[in-house]
Amino acid sequence: MSGNEFKVGIVGAMGRMGQAIIAALQGHSVLRFSAASDIETHPMIGKECYLGTGVSLSTNSQSVFEASDVVIDFTPPGNTQTHAEYAKTFKTAYIVGTTGLTEADHQALDVAGQSACVVQAGNFSLGVNLMTAFSKKMAEVLGDEWDIEILEMHHKHKVDAPSGTAVMIGEAAAEGRRVNLDEKAVRARDGITGERKSGDIGFATLRGGSVIGEHEIIFASENERLTLSHRAENRGLFASGAVRAAHWAASHVKGRYNMMDVLELTDFGA
Ligand code: NAD
Repeated sequence: MSGNEFKVGIVGAMGRMGQAIIAALQGHSVLRFSAASDIETHPMIGKECYLGTGVSLSTNSQSVFEASDVVIDFTPPGNTQTHAEYAKTFKTAYIVGTTGLTEADHQALDVAGQSACVVQAGNFSLGVNLMTAFSKKMAEVLGDEWDIEILEMHHKHKVDAPSGTAVMIGEAAAEGRRVNLDEKAVRARDGITGERKSGDIGFATLRGGSVIGEHEIIFASENERLTLSHRAENRGLFASGAVRAAHWAASHVKGRYNMMDVLELTDFGA
């Protein structure tokens, strides 16, 4: 390994995201996949965890943190506080993709951020994060006379609506307008709804087939219409975002960051 390369460890390496991230790391210019862990009962413990990498799967996540410059964590909820403690102890840059974090998890990440570079995001997609930042900026620049509508489509198995990402985009637009989304959101329309109220932020939901995730935000005025849209082509979009965050974190100082920092969108109003 040459001087400007970084060792990357993956905890939860045999999971859907773990495997997608290892795949995304193959052939990277400076990041080298070098350590991996999963739970004790996993049948691949002690074996090569991804063909051709030579990295053996361990049960010891602490040693993964100790041996790595950056660790990427997409394990299920419940492990974040322990892993944050390891990041703090070994000053290992820490990328957290786990969703459903508790207040105590966030506090542990804040503490780890005092010793190590910590990047946490509920959505690591580069496109979605850019779309969120642009939505906020557009809402800020375009006044109330532009109606905002957010449309999303997902596969038929999704049980909640609108999607968390659609709500995130709506929150960014509301923030851009300096309003509270809960007071402005219209989540469904049916029957005689009356005219659209100025300042409303509308949501529409489509469900069907195997669509991974599509989001659109429409700004409509009397004279023109501006649309931003994002389409997930496959689930690798989160993995490539996490790898980008790992590359960024490997050469950044300690602190608590999110994807807006990684994409340098904070000055953009995100
Ligand atoms: P998964 O169940 O396929 O994988 C989780 C893996 O972690 C499994 O192999 C499991 O055995 C392992 N694991 C569990 N506890 C562990 C521990 N203590 N130490 C080491 N390994 C452990 O799940 P997934 O679909 O890969 O998703 C994982 C998490 O990532 C979920 O919280 C999911 O919501 C989140 N996620 C986030 C994003 C994002 O962009 N932030 C995108 C996709 C998924």
